[in-house]
Amino acid sequence: MSNVQRFLAAILPERLAAEMESESRAWMIRCECGFEQSVWESGGIRWKAKGSPRQLRMCSSCGKKSWHTISRNETT
Ligand SMILES: [Zn+2]
Repeated sequence: MSNVQRFLAAILPERLAAEMESESRAWMIRCECGFEQSVWESGGIRWKAKGSPRQLRMCSSCGKKSWHTISRNETT
């Protein structure tokens, strides 16, 4: 877990911490190269959020800095 994830897991009640993690896992970050990982896996948190924002970030697969789309995986 990243620092921010550890911090929130420590201060939140167990139920909310679990909710935060499962929701963050449902949000996927996708690079233009096709690489996809969940917000949680990337060390971030996305909780009680809506919409499909774009984020300029470094891709851990292709190594390029590009706009990534963040969208919720409705199947999980
Ligand atoms: Zn990429």
